[in-house]
Amino acid sequence: MNPIAQKIEHLPTSPGVYIFKDKNGTVLYVGKAGNIKHRVSSYFQRAGEKDTKTVAMLEKIEDIETIVTDTEKEALILEDNLIKEHHPRYNIKLRDDKRYPCLRLSVEEDFPTLSIVRRIKKDHSLYFGPYPSATSLKETLRLIRRLFFIRTCKDTKFSNRVRPCINYEMGRCYGPCCGKIDSDQYRQMIHQVKLFLEGKDKDLLEELKRRMEEESEKLHFEAAARIRDQIRHIEHVIEKQKIVSRSFLDQDVIGLHRHDHTVIIHPLFVRGGRLLGGKGFRFAGAALPDEEVLSSFIRQYYHQGRFIPDQILIPKPIHEQNFSEQWLTGLKGKKVSLIVPQKGEKRRLLRLACENAERYYISKTELQEDRKKILGALKEKLRLTKIPERIEAFDISNLQGGYAVGSMVVFEDGEPNKDRYRHFKIKTIEGADDYGMMYEVLLRRYQRAIKENDLPDLILLDGGKGQLNVAQEVFKELEIKGVDLISLAKGGTAKEELSSSKEKSQEKVFRPQIKEPIRFSKSSPVLHFLDRIRDEAHRFALTYHKKMRKKGTIWSILQEIPGIGMSRQKELLKYFGSVDEIKEASIEVLASVPKMTSQSAQTVYDFFHSREL
Ligand code: SF4
Repeated sequence: MNPIAQKIEHLPTSPGVYIFKDKNGTVLYVGKAGNIKHRVSSYFQRAGEKDTKTVAMLEKIEDIETIVTDTEKEALILEDNLIKEHHPRYNIKLRDDKRYPCLRLSVEEDFPTLSIVRRIKKDHSLYFGPYPSATSLKETLRLIRRLFFIRTCKDTKFSNRVRPCINYEMGRCYGPCCGKIDSDQYRQMIHQVKLFLEGKDKDLLEELKRRMEEESEKLHFEAAARIRDQIRHIEHVIEKQKIVSRSFLDQDVIGLHRHDHTVIIHPLFVRGGRLLGGKGFRFAGAALPDEEVLSSFIRQYYHQGRFIPDQILIPKPIHEQNFSEQWLTGLKGKKVSLIVPQKGEKRRLLRLACENAERYYISKTELQEDRKKILGALKEKLRLTKIPERIEAFDISNLQGGYAVGSMVVFEDGEPNKDRYRHFKIKTIEGADDYGMMYEVLLRRYQRAIKENDLPDLILLDGGKGQLNVAQEVFKELEIKGVDLISLAKGGTAKEELSSSKEKSQEKVFRPQIKEPIRFSKSSPVLHFLDRIRDEAHRFALTYHKKMRKKGTIWSILQEIPGIGMSRQKELLKYFGSVDEIKEASIEVLASVPKMTSQSAQTVYDFFHSREL
C-alpha cells in the first residue's frame, strides 16, 4: 500500500478540513467535508477516469493533513480562513469583490425611500436585485420614480424641511416631509412599488384599478385620471419586459461551460419571473471536477453579501448539497432551494444559462487573442525585452503641491487588475515637485516589490524624459534589472507645436538609451492601449485626490468649532458625510449623533447658523 493510501485508510470520518500538500510542504488544495475520509478517498478512486489536470494535481500530493471540527459549518469557516492564508494553487478564487448594485426599499421607515446600494445589510429593509449593471438599475429607478411618487431626499433633509422641495411643486412627490400625505396613504404607494419590483403586475394593476374606481365614485376625477395614466404606463412597461418564469420567484440560474481546464460560470438573475441579466466568471486552470468548482463558486459568491434568491438552479448535483442549502437558508433567513432541474421551464432556463456561459467563453477567448496580439506588437514596436504580461503605470496628482498622491494601476494580460491598484500619500516632498514625488512613489513601491519578489515586466510613466530619468535613478539605486521602462508624453515640444508638421500633438514614447522618442499614428491600437493605461492611472489618482480634498475641507471646518473634539468630529462626519448635511441638521438630529449632547449639538448648530448672518 502506498503512503497516501495508508494515510487515507486512517483519516477520520468526521466533518472537517483536509489539506493536500506537495513534497515541499506547499499547500496545493484546501477542502471541507462532512466526512473527511469519504471525500478524500473519492479523489483517488477511479483516478484513471479523471481528466489530466486533476490527475496532475493528485500526482503532486505527498501529504494530507486534516483538521476535525464539531460541525460542517465550522469546517466551512476554517476552510475559508486556510484558503485566505495559503492561496492554494488548485482552489478556485472568485476575483470579484465588486458588489452588484441592488435597490433598497427602506420599509422600516414611516416614509420609506428607494436607494441604490452595493451591500445587503441584515436590516429590515427590502432588497431587490442584483442588477447586472448600474445603468440598468438606474433605468429601473428612473422608471419607478416616474410611475410612483416616492420621496428622493435623504433622511436628514427629510426631517429638517419646513416646506416641500421642487419635487412636490412638479408633482413628483406627495410632500410627506411637510405632512401633505399621511403615513398610511404613503405606505399604500410603497406597497405598489413593492408589487412592481416583485413582478406581481397582475396584483398591482388590480389594486390600481380598484383605487381608480373608488376615486371616481367619490367624484375625485383628477385623482382617478392620474391613476388611469399610471395604469397605462405600467401596462406599457410590462409589455416590453420578458417573462421567463411563470413561478414568479427570485431565481439565480447558474450556467456552466468547460473547455479543457477553463471553466466559465454564468449566473442569470431572474427576479419575479423577469430576466434582469447575467454575469460571467472565468476560472482558468481549474483542475477540479465541475461539481467541486460549482460548490466552491456558490460558497464564495453568496458569502460576499450578495442577494440570495429563493431558488438556485444548478446544472449538476454538488457534494453535500443539503448542507449548502442549509447554509444558504441560514444566510438568507428564509428557505433557499438548490435544484438540478430535469425538465420543463427550469431546465429550459438552465440551458439558456449554459449557452450564455459558452458564448462568454468564446467572446473572452477572442478578446484574449486580440490582447495577446497587442502585447506582442507593443514589445516589437518599443523594442522591449519581453512581452509585458504585467504592466504597472504611475501618475501623480496634486493641487499646487497640496494633497499630493501617487497612484499605481496594474494591467495583467492586457486587462486591469484592480485588486493590485495602490495609492501613495506623498510623505517626504513639500511643494509642487512632480519629479520628487515620482521618486518617492517609485522608491517605496519597488523597495517593497524587491522584498516580495513581485516585479512587473514593464513600467509606464505619465510624462516625458524627466519622469523616465527619475525611474532610471530609482532602478539604479535599487539595482533592479530586467524590467522595461517607458514614459508616455502627450503632444509635441514647443517647437513642434509651433510647426505645422504632422509631428505636432503626436504622442511620444521615451525609452532609456534611445535618444529619439518613438511615435505612433493616431489610429495605432498600441497607442490606444497605452493611452487606456495612462488614462486609468490618471482617473485613479484623481478620484483619490478629490476624496482627500473633500475630507480635508470637512475636517478643517469641523476643527474650527470650539469645544468639539476629535471623537465628536469623527462621529459627525460618519453620520452626515458632508458639511452641507451637518449645516441642514436640526439641533435634535445633531444631538442624536453618538457622543453628542444637547449642549454640543447647540454649539454646532450655532456655529453654522451664526456664520450665515
Ligand atoms: S417634497 Fe419633501 S419628501 Fe418629497 S422629495 Fe422633496 S423634501 Fe423630500
